[in-house]
Amino acid sequence: MPSMKTLGYYNGEIAAIDELRIPMNDRVCWFGDGVYDATITGNHVIFALDEHIDRFFNSAALVEIPLAFTKLWLAELLHDLVQKLDSPTQFVYWQVTRGTTERAHTFPETPANLWVMLRPLVLPDLTNKVKLITVEDIRFLLCNVKTLNLLPNVLASEQAKRAGCYEAVFHRGERVTECSHSNVHILKNGVFRTAPADNLILPGITRAHLIAHCLKLGITVSEAPFTVAELMSADEVIVSSSSTFCASASHIDGHEVGGKAPDLLTKLRESLLNEFHEATSAGV
Ligand code: PLP
Repeated sequence: MPSMKTLGYYNGEIAAIDELRIPMNDRVCWFGDGVYDATITGNHVIFALDEHIDRFFNSAALVEIPLAFTKLWLAELLHDLVQKLDSPTQFVYWQVTRGTTERAHTFPETPANLWVMLRPLVLPDLTNKVKLITVEDIRFLLCNVKTLNLLPNVLASEQAKRAGCYEAVFHRGERVTECSHSNVHILKNGVFRTAPADNLILPGITRAHLIAHCLKLGITVSEAPFTVAELMSADEVIVSSSSTFCASASHIDGHEVGGKAPDLLTKLRESLLNEFHEATSAGV
């Protein structure tokens, strides 16, 4: 029976998030040395879990954090933990950090630490359009790793908030990459355009699902880079992530954008939302 409002897990210990204490020598404290992944539940069912676990293992391998468990073990752990929360709709977050040892840059001998965090989530109303700003992408060149080193993302996100906006769109010069905690895509002349999944963006699971829905709906997909100018003159601007699915933008840097292909946008969004509702409707 569910009974918890929030849940923290640290190497097997379970408590409400506010009650869990973490050792100061966990390398996350000194270096942000770890990787994470996150998704959501509906009716206590975790959405697209296998894809998130695959990406998590890939992130850990890219930064050489050995994992002492299998994908199946992690999936079962997460599945068991989400049953403990009262809320059927949850934000599901987990991370691994590179062990606990006194501060030293080189890798420690100690085993990695596994963390899980669960909290209730309210699904967004996607008929509300969002406002965005553009920000030069000053991140390093491992953006495909879901690293805990999110300082430029945090700064850009706060900059967006102070501008009364939902998200910041990163660009490297003219080339649009992604957002501070989302991917960004455009619809132009019936084509869904999204940045290539190289080391300059996180390969979003929602991005992959949107591409699959485009193909199902007969919408052409282009994974060639697009520019800030193309973003500003797009028919629709779409921001995607696991917890907000597929939001569309009305303004960027105070200029009106998008709004020129509402039917295509709705078709794509509904297709994605239907997949989520179908995958989670049965409950457990
Ligand atoms: N890009 C960044 C930098 C992110 O942090 C996220 C989500 O956390 C995304 C993109 C979207 O990824 P996903 O759709 O897998 O949630």
